[in-house]
Amino acid sequence: MIDRNILSKLSNKKTPFYYYDTSLLRRTIESIKKESGKYGYHVHYALKANTHDAVVKEMVSSGFGADCVSGNEVQYASEMGIPSERIAFAGVGKTDEEILTALRVGIFSFNCESIPEIEVINELAAKEGVVAPIAIRINPDVDPKTHEYITTGLKDNKFGINHWDFDVVASKLKKLKNIRLTGIHFHVGSQITDMSVFEQLSLKINKISAWFKDNDFQLQHINVGGGLGINYDSPASEPIADFAAYFKAFHEYIQLEEGQELHFELGRSVVAQCGHLISKVLYVKQGLETQFMILDAGMTELIRPALYGAHHDISVLTSELEEEKYDVVGPVCESSDVFAKGVMLPKSQRGDIIAIHSSGAYGQTMASSYNMRDLVLGYTTEEL
Ligand SMILES: *Cc1c(COP(=O)(O)O)cnc(C)c1O
Repeated sequence: MIDRNILSKLSNKKTPFYYYDTSLLRRTIESIKKESGKYGYHVHYALKANTHDAVVKEMVSSGFGADCVSGNEVQYASEMGIPSERIAFAGVGKTDEEILTALRVGIFSFNCESIPEIEVINELAAKEGVVAPIAIRINPDVDPKTHEYITTGLKDNKFGINHWDFDVVASKLKKLKNIRLTGIHFHVGSQITDMSVFEQLSLKINKISAWFKDNDFQLQHINVGGGLGINYDSPASEPIADFAAYFKAFHEYIQLEEGQELHFELGRSVVAQCGHLISKVLYVKQGLETQFMILDAGMTELIRPALYGAHHDISVLTSELEEEKYDVVGPVCESSDVFAKGVMLPKSQRGDIIAIHSSGAYGQTMASSYNMRDLVLGYTTEEL
């Protein structure tokens, strides 16, 4: 999976660090453009998955818009060259300062998650003398069949507006002068691998958009969010997600009005597989019933295993010896700082180089400096 020719370059860098395979990233982007382009769909890249500058530059040159979840992301997207009319801004807790930032950038859409938020945006837009384009984020009560921490579209999640509030929202929207409803927005969860979830979502959206039509709202766009999953168990066999099946699921089930745009916000599926966390073995320690492979990378660099019990495929890049069983752990003072338990890996020793695959999404962006550790850096193929 990692080209052996770059092993010497990887070995020369101080570990741990993220390596982003530019070639795979480009092939992934090409696939998304090809498959979404078949239907004229609009794609926003969900910045929170990965904000390494060189990675984001690939998104800019691909013509993707941005999906942002903070004022800083809106500012960054704009500074990196994403056209303001392609920037969406979601989040349940937008501060006044963040709303003002987005109003001044002049974004495509505020994806609004509550009635009080809509009122505040209206007020701030009035002060700025502008009309803010908004989409309401609707909670469609669709179960994405994924981990509960990355489930966002069930009726008791904190996200979105529920259908029983539609009447109140509609009458508000008709009264407020400094906002304009341009669309409806959904995002039901992440790491969704069952395409029937997107089918279910499309069918719910059809009912919801009919309600808006019946209530005299003309929706210019429908935004279905992101959530497409990737193959964490066997990344080498599926380096690029099945974008053909993904976009086709929507094409088959969603009903659009004449001229209505369909928007997507993909994060994980764009960047996960191109990223690898590169680390060195510090020590191999014999335990009671297992041996611990202690790495110089831990939950501070990649928190997904500790946070969601996520599984990442691991390779030893510098050993081809017979396999042995290891618990692969990090150095941080937390028992949850474990990458994998009881995995078979080539016999390794101090200094061996390890790659933790499928780490390009929600890896570096979720890093911390807990234990006063250095904040992890990232390099694309060209930057190595
Ligand atoms: C995180 C997020 C996304 C991206 O989700 P992925 O599962 O990474 O594709 C899209 N839209 C919103 C509103 C988000 O919060």
